[in-house]
Amino acid sequence: MQQEFYRDTWVDIDLDAISHNVKSMKEHVGKNVKVIAVVKANAYGHGSVQVAKTAIKSGASMLAVAFLDEAIALRNSGIEAPILILGATRASAIQLAIKYDITLTVFSLDWLVEASQYIQEGTVKIHVKLDTGMSRLGVREEKSLLAIFDYVKTSSCFHIEGIYTHFATADEKDVTYFNEQYEKFDEFLELIPHDELLVHCGNSATGLRFPEKVYNAVRLGISMYGLTPSLEIKDELPYTLKEAFSLKTKLVNVKKVPKGTKVSYGATYEAKSEEWIGTIPIGYADGWIRALRDVDVLVAGQRAPLVGRICMDQCMIKLPYELPIGETVTLIGRQNNEKISVDEIASHLNTINYEITCMISMRVPRIFWENGQKISVDNPIINNL
Ligand SMILES: *Cc1c(COP(=O)(O)O)cnc(C)c1O
Repeated sequence: MQQEFYRDTWVDIDLDAISHNVKSMKEHVGKNVKVIAVVKANAYGHGSVQVAKTAIKSGASMLAVAFLDEAIALRNSGIEAPILILGATRASAIQLAIKYDITLTVFSLDWLVEASQYIQEGTVKIHVKLDTGMSRLGVREEKSLLAIFDYVKTSSCFHIEGIYTHFATADEKDVTYFNEQYEKFDEFLELIPHDELLVHCGNSATGLRFPEKVYNAVRLGISMYGLTPSLEIKDELPYTLKEAFSLKTKLVNVKKVPKGTKVSYGATYEAKSEEWIGTIPIGYADGWIRALRDVDVLVAGQRAPLVGRICMDQCMIKLPYELPIGETVTLIGRQNNEKISVDEIASHLNTINYEITCMISMRVPRIFWENGQKISVDNPIINNL
């Protein structure tokens, strides 16, 4: 759907980069391994519907989201590919999973028994989740796994389509704990018939580093977006990742201020000489949080510092020289030979790249680009008015 927007702050999403990243992983793991494109959290802030469509076009076989609402949103946008919910689902919502043909993650016999009472008709597809060391979701004991398989054999309500686990340290150089989890998963698998099942254990880091260890599917999240799973393994990436996300705005006010002029709330910044100060319409309500006050932006192909406190909807930058209103300012992305990466912003906040793209809020429209063409705009603010 084409939606207009009127603010001068937006995210560009390069769908060709997404496509490159999906195809590269597919080639890397080989044709017998399926790619499950992880599009939870609005595709890590990139826009779940467009990313899902591009991922499927590029060879992904299945989508994964965190919870039922995200899955239904994809179905309501016309997406027909299989969808797996990675999180827990309320037993009482099971009929919706059947109605929308959504695959659920299951990890307890009690849940199956309870959910079966809510099924009026149909069968729900499930993947059984094993906890091999993450201690988040999953079956922890052999007898519980066997009980689930025994129960499902006698029930027409459930069809086991897959079995999986999740690694806690796949993105770390030290593989000791990873190997322990891997062996535990293997031991679990020996207990049950799994030739017909989708068997998966790998996130991006596992797929990138150990393509021979992902069984028959890989859950591709962060590296589909062109971002490294961790800085620690950046030097062992087997192919080039292309970043899909850039954050841009425009100068909406430009002024020359004399030495000693204070800028923004608290008057914490003071011009050291005569300076050109620009105002940009992005602030903490857009996810450009106050802790980012010391980052640079790119303007006219150069780095320029943010000055003073970040406000809710706006902040100020020190320009290298007088620039016109309407000049593009890049907060994440490239201008000429300069680049501000998602990793650079993450390191300012002492966090991981995953958190940065997720935190740019729904107030910021996403523009989707394919083959150099703008193909659609996602702007939930106007959509919801
Ligand atoms: C989010 C998630 C993934 C994707 O992980 P990346 O590191 O982003 O590739 C895979 N599996 C599960 C269970 C997840 O929750």
